Amino acid sequence: MTRAGTPLRDAPEDRRTAPGAPAATFAADIGGTWVRLRTGGQDAPVERLPSPSRLRHPDRSTARLRADMVELLSDRAPAGARAALSFGAAIDHLTGTVYGSAPLWGAESAPYDLAAELRRRRPDVTWHLVNDVTAALLDFAAVHAGPGTRRVAYLTVSSGIALRIADVERTRIPVDARGLQGEVGHLPVPLTDPGADVLAGLPCECGATDHLASIASGPGLTRAAHRLGLPWAEQVADRLPGALAAGDPDARRLLELCAAPVAQLLRTLWCLDPHLDLIGIGGGVAEGLGGHYAAELRRRLAAATSYADRGHDDAWLDDRLVFCAPGQVDPLRGVHRIGDWLPGVTR
Ligand SMILES: [Zn+2]
Repeated sequence: MTRAGTPLRDAPEDRRTAPGAPAATFAADIGGTWVRLRTGGQDAPVERLPSPSRLRHPDRSTARLRADMVELLSDRAPAGARAALSFGAAIDHLTGTVYGSAPLWGAESAPYDLAAELRRRRPDVTWHLVNDVTAALLDFAAVHAGPGTRRVAYLTVSSGIALRIADVERTRIPVDARGLQGEVGHLPVPLTDPGADVLAGLPCECGATDHLASIASGPGLTRAAHRLGLPWAEQVADRLPGALAAGDPDARRLLELCAAPVAQLLRTLWCLDPHLDLIGIGGGVAEGLGGHYAAELRRRLAAATSYADRGHDDAWLDDRLVFCAPGQVDPLRGVHRIGDWLPGVTR
């Protein structure tokens, strides 16, 4: 349940269901490694199945993997269910078309209308698809948005980097003409820190170079560690927290370089939207580095960079930034709430 006064409501009854027969609820969080399913309400048990993904089945064709996914979901959804799917891919929130997901379907870049295929297979089910960052945002907002919260964002710094912003006052999640919002990981990143040009030209998973994800994502951290010549670059996720705790100057330098563009993103967000009252930060990189990451972002955001950005003190940042612990934000829990938001997912 949300804090008092927020506009998040309990999910309304599905209007397509016959009167007197409450819709079954079916939710799934689909990633490259696992598909987590829940049939029933928020309190029903979660079932975890291996994902029919490229990650698990490198030998299978994309067509086969997609067919396996459709089969898995359409086999599991109860008759007449209201189904809400959280999908680990860039997705058109207006149609349910999946633009691409390397862990699920490899380098296949042709859009795939997963929602249409599910509706064809199981027309009795009401299918709703959203990106997993959107689903995480809904869960984060439900827990953390207070009565005065106007807009809330969730930023994931993980194997990729993405951001979603919801307008809590109007229960809206604005998207562009392609049904997307906040794919910030693939924005070009300015290397403005002294010495940061050592990271120039690093590749991104999308094939370009010098993107935010080139440097600041999990794989980006490994690439940056290689550039800095760290002998433990391949084990950066395991070794960095300990090296930071031990005061290793190379580890410190790596953290500073990789957190800088994320701090710059946050600074820009607040400059453009002063009503962005709350930002949650999660994902494997942020959660794995924990207090080190939080302290570095806060240190940077405290510093004045110009007359327009005078820096933010501890109290200001305490009110607006939430660093999420592992497991604290759950896309499966969040996607249950999509029915409340769907009329507001809009161009
Ligand atoms: Zn990119």
